[in-house]
Order: sequence, then structure tokens, then C-alpha cells
Amino acid sequence: MKVLKFGGSSVRDPQMILRVIDIARACLNEAPVLVASAMGKTTDALQDAAEAAETGERDRAEQLIDRIDSDHVCTAKALCTGTERVPLMTAIAALTAELRSLIHGITLIRECSPRSKDAVLSFGERLSTTIVASAARERGLDTTLVDARTLIRTDASFAAATPDMTATAELVSVGLDPQPGSLIVTQGFIASTADGVTTTLGRGGSDFTATILGAALGAKAVEIWTDVDGIMTADPRVIDGARTIPAISYDEAAELAYFGAKVVHPYTILPAVRREIPVWVKNTSRPESPGTRITGRSDSAGIRAVASKSGITLVTIRSSRMLNAYGFLQALFAIFDRHKVSVDLVATSEVSVSMTVDQSTELGPLERELQELGRVEIESGKSIVCLVGRDLFQRSGFVSEVFAAVDPAHVRLISLGSSEINLSLVVDEAETEGVLRRLHEKLLAP
Ligand code: ADP
Ligand code: ASP
Ligand code: MG
Repeated sequence: MKVLKFGGSSVRDPQMILRVIDIARACLNEAPVLVASAMGKTTDALQDAAEAAETGERDRAEQLIDRIDSDHVCTAKALCTGTERVPLMTAIAALTAELRSLIHGITLIRECSPRSKDAVLSFGERLSTTIVASAARERGLDTTLVDARTLIRTDASFAAATPDMTATAELVSVGLDPQPGSLIVTQGFIASTADGVTTTLGRGGSDFTATILGAALGAKAVEIWTDVDGIMTADPRVIDGARTIPAISYDEAAELAYFGAKVVHPYTILPAVRREIPVWVKNTSRPESPGTRITGRSDSAGIRAVASKSGITLVTIRSSRMLNAYGFLQALFAIFDRHKVSVDLVATSEVSVSMTVDQSTELGPLERELQELGRVEIESGKSIVCLVGRDLFQRSGFVSEVFAAVDPAHVRLISLGSSEINLSLVVDEAETEGVLRRLHEKLLAP
């Protein structure tokens, strides 16, 4: 069997949903499980509605929900004109009524906990999959809609829940039975705790759902269908000459995803690696294009791609106590550990340590403790630019080429050498695009 995951842009309107159904039909004999995201920008709209409700902007929250409701009703009407029409309309009405009462409740108490927010966001995927399943059924596909919350068990870390792979494997073995000739449709992104409370895997998490299910089912492949021709040498929205990478390794893809290549969610690769399941990234609008194959190995040594992640803060601690002393780094990281702040890149000298953290991190209490170790400097508005490939340092003149490309941007931190697959630089956000462009031109142009 195989898992096919379709992102928001792949299910954004009736025409795209018809393409999705065609793709599923073409592999029906491979017992497909279809994972779908919310339509288009629905999750953003749900988030706005929850926030408007929380701040008491009742009219705005209602308008947003009205829009979500009418978009789904229009799509459903365009796709289902026959026997599926009435049951589909009833299902959509039941879902939107539930969503409205939830938003109403948030408006009344003016409070939206992460738990409530996950409940609100879940409606995007619940609505889209209801439509996709009915549309497939009306086109003669033997289709079953399964609620992902009965399959994927997570902890209660709302907004970014962690799956329990053992419990999930058990639930999947009971709840999913993919068969050649039939189609199973389920939601990406959403899951539930052992108590049945709705959780989400974090924004963009439907890719992760696909590999979690793929691993639990021992799928022969997971296909991530999106709006570009695969993983490319750079984000094609930023770099004109970006090209599709035919094959890439799990670790290279994971680095790219982690450092900003939004095309796959950062956690997507992990479940696939464990079971050695090939992951493909393909274009829903151009199914004939081969896309990118992600497996244990890439084709050859060399630079594969550039990516960037903005919203980075650089934390630097300067202290003469580091000179010839041991235990300093341990004390430093113990503070980060206590405050549960995760660090991406680190560079040390004899008298200072610089680290990058996410800009959204609340740094106040952490900074106060760090001051006990030395002078602390916090610089926000940075981004990480990263080059990913295999055996990067075997390319002669690699480092000088990188420096030539980066010039004249002001580089605040370099992390190179900790792995042969990633070289990362921290630059000002305003300089990111220029650095990406020059690196791509110098190191990745054909
Ligand atoms: P989906 O809705 O299908 O999940 P996303 O918007 O999450 O799609 O991801 C697809 C987008 O990722 C592309 O439209 C592209 O702009 C962006 N992207 C960023 N980096 C890359 C890259 N290296 N290769 C391909 N796409 C990339
Ligand atoms: N719909 C969710 C989001 O927009 C999950 C996803 O698209 O992967 O973040
Ligand atoms: Mg995505």
C-alpha cells in the first residue's frame, strides 16, 4: 500500500480536488491511503477567527467563519451533484455548526487555550476530507473516510503534539485496512490524546501525518503531493533559477526542512527513516513530472540546495571565566535545558559563545540566569542561511566560494564542519535574499 498526502493548495478548489481524485484512481490497485490538508488558507482563517473571538471581535470572527462555511459549501456543490450531495451537505452543516458554537464559547469567555485552538484548527482538515471523500465516492471510487484522531495518538502538547508511535501503530492496525481497489481518506495535521482530546502536530504537520501512517502501515512509499515539482535547489518563490532535485537522502532532506525549506515539514523524514520507506515529493498539477525521491542515499556527492529560516535571535555570552576552564558550557546549556529553550547553531571561542534560538522564544527569565555566567548580548532579526549537500568539503575551494558568494553581507555566525551535509550562516534578515541568490548563482547554477 502507499500513502498519498495532498497539501492545502492541492485541495484548494473543485478543479484541484478532481486532480487529486484522478491521482488516487490511478493507483487504486496499490491500496492507497489519502491524507489531505485543509483547503487553501483555511487553517490561517480558523486561526484568525479563534484570535478574533478571544479578543472579543465577535463580528470579525463570525465573518471569518461565514466565509469558511460558504467556501466549503460552494466547493461541495460544485463537486457533488448526485447521490452524495445531501449527505455531504448535512455533514458540512454539522461540522460548521460545531465550529460556530466553539467560536461562540471562546467569544463569551474571551479565552482561547492552546487546547481550544487545536479544536478550532481541526475543522479545516475535517471539512476538506469530508468533501474529498464524497467527491471520490460520487466518481465511483469505493471510499472510506477515517477520522485521523482515531489513528494517531499523541501527548497533550497542544499546537505541536508528539506522536506516540507504539500506540499509533496499534490504533492503525485496528482502524485501517487498506485494500487494492479501495480508497481510504483521512486528515493530516490532527490527532488525539489517550483521553480523546483533539491535538495538532504543528503548522504544516500533514506531511508528518503521512509518514507516521506510512511507517505504521509499512507502506511501500509515501508521496507528498504539492504545488511545485519536488524539492528544489532553492525556494522557487524566491530564486528564479531553482531546479528540481531528482534524488536526495533522508538526512539532507531533513536538514533542508529543518532550516526552512517549507516543502516538507521538519519531522516528516523521521518515521520514514526508521522503516526505510521512500518518500516522493510531486506536483499535483503536473503528475507526469518525476518529482524528488527521498531515500537512504542521494545520487552523488555535491551541493544539493540552499534554504533559509528567518525569525532567528542570536544570543552571545562573553565571559573570561571560560578561559582555560572546564564545566562552563555544561553550566550554560543546563540553563537552556531548565528553560526548555532549544538551540539550533552554536559557535564558541575562548571567551564567548554564540547560539541561535527561535525569535518567538520568551528570553526574559533565561537572560537573567545567563547574566550570572557573563555579559549577555541579544540580537534579533537574524536568519539562518544553510547549504545542504553530501561530502560538501570534498569540493575543492568550497569554503572560499561560499565566502565570495556571501560577500558583502555581514555574517554573524558560521557553523561548518559539524556535519558534512550542512553549512549554516547567520545573517541579518534584510540580507537573506541576496545571500541566497548569490549562493545559488555561484554554487548551484547548472
Ligand atoms: P502544501 O500546501 O502542499 O503543504 P507548502 O506551501 O507547505 O505546500 O510547501 C510548498 C512550498 O514550499 C512551495 O510552494 C515553495 O514555495 C516552498 N519551498 C521552500 N523551499 C523549497 C524548496 N527547496 N523546494 C521546493 N519548494 C520549496
Ligand atoms: N492545515 C495545516 C496548516 O495549514 C496543516 C498542513 O497544511 O500541513 O498548517
Ligand atoms: Mg506543507
